[in-house]
Amino acid sequence: MSSLEELYKEVILDHYKNPRNIGELEPPAIKSEGHNPLCGDDITLYVTIEDGVIKEIKMQSSGCSISQASASMMTNAIKDKTTDEALELMETVKQMLKVHLDGSSEDGATPPGLGDLAALQGVVQFPVRIKCATLSWNTLAEAIKEAS
Ligand code: ZN
Repeated sequence: MSSLEELYKEVILDHYKNPRNIGELEPPAIKSEGHNPLCGDDITLYVTIEDGVIKEIKMQSSGCSISQASASMMTNAIKDKTTDEALELMETVKQMLKVHLDGSSEDGATPPGLGDLAALQGVVQFPVRIKCATLSWNTLAEAIKEAS
């Protein structure tokens, strides 16, 4: 295993063991639920959006380490971003996961500005895992849709 893979594993494990932004928000925060039947991952997001900016986000999740770590990283990454920026970041992450499946990201073609999210490319080696990694993002997209 390369040292980069080790680092990715550590980042995933850290978010899995110490998930960020756990909790609930009272209405009028938007509540959005996502489910990945392939793996049994569940996530509930509570999002407060003001003037197009994601002011607060809390989550409750259960499921595999990839889905939980991914959700934790997502909540960290999109806080204080505009909804447009959040959706853009989602596309970047999804693109990264696709690129990895092609095997064409081996030479470090990670999109910039991903922070911890870059760690996902180190573990998403099977198509079925893509749904685990994107569940929280799709759930966020639903919440944003509901807010607009
Ligand atoms: Zn999963």
